[in-house]
Amino acid sequence: MYDIGIVGGGTAGMTAAIYGQRAGKRTVIIEGGNFGGQITSSPKVENYPGIASVSGSEFSMNLLDQAMKLGAETVVEKVTGIHAEDGILVIETTDKAYPCRSVILATGVTHRHLGAADEERLTGSGVSYCATCDGAFFRGRDVAVIGGGSTALQDAEFLSNYCRKVYLVHRRDEFRGEDSIVKRLAAKENVEFVLSAVVKEILGENVVEGLILTNKKTGEDFRLDVAGVFIAVGQIPRNESFADVVKLDENGFILAAEDCVTSAPGIFAAGDCRTKEVRQLTTAAADGAVAALAACKYISDQR
Ligand code: NAP
Repeated sequence: MYDIGIVGGGTAGMTAAIYGQRAGKRTVIIEGGNFGGQITSSPKVENYPGIASVSGSEFSMNLLDQAMKLGAETVVEKVTGIHAEDGILVIETTDKAYPCRSVILATGVTHRHLGAADEERLTGSGVSYCATCDGAFFRGRDVAVIGGGSTALQDAEFLSNYCRKVYLVHRRDEFRGEDSIVKRLAAKENVEFVLSAVVKEILGENVVEGLILTNKKTGEDFRLDVAGVFIAVGQIPRNESFADVVKLDENGFILAAEDCVTSAPGIFAAGDCRTKEVRQLTTAAADGAVAALAACKYISDQR
């Protein structure tokens, strides 16, 4: 029996494990894919207090190392649901069941797709959702980044270091992401902003060969010849497996306020998977701490 079962091994989940272990609780983190979560795809994190600059993968590996050194157990299995049994919460995975006194859902979010024709077919053949993972394949070539948030800006900056040309395609004429990066990109000779434009078509028989974009102001279509398309148009939650135990909002985020308390006793939600205004690395870490301490209090109140 675990004191705290954590679903998701991103920043929120691993921070919760650190706080849980330090409070003397037996903690397990169950992760369906790779530990680290979204931040592993960030080439450079420059807004985490106390760390001027670090790669996302180094940051997350340090977190995992810290949690494991404190005794947190880790399991790589896909969680399929949760049910209550005699006052115990049981986390079900494809392989096993993990009885826990409390549960923290830290399931994060996943990449939103554009929904363009041939996007799925060309994924892995020029279409990518992770510049850090796939950028090196496009050294010396021309690529497009789609999106106007922090991820798109960071991806464009990262790719500009070794791609010949980076088109940053955004549907509006101002960016949502940090102004400091916009200024750095504007100063780069091999970066071109393509604003008020949306993707109409991704071209290519076997690999990406280009894009057909529509200028939203004139309605005209135009072509960009690119070998890679990096899609960074935001994130969506994946909480369907828990919809029968915790309340979700209309967009699929787990309903929970800053106290991380969900509609189900003993189940807490931390990080980007819950309803919140600001989804940042710092707020994910903060949620991990809040949820773990709330879980500790819940366990002692039950005794
Ligand atoms: P985001 O901030 O939600 O931005 C998504 C972008 O994609 C927006 O510019 C949006 O356009 C555009 N978009 C959405 N749907 C689209 C569509 N169908 N077609 C074309 N464009 C579309 O997402 P994000 O950049 O992934 O960032 C998510 C969160 O993580 C944010 O809170 C961000 O600050 C944070 N983050 C932090 C770091 C860090 O280093 N700490 C790094 C990356 C991200 P509109 O602007 O028109 O809505």
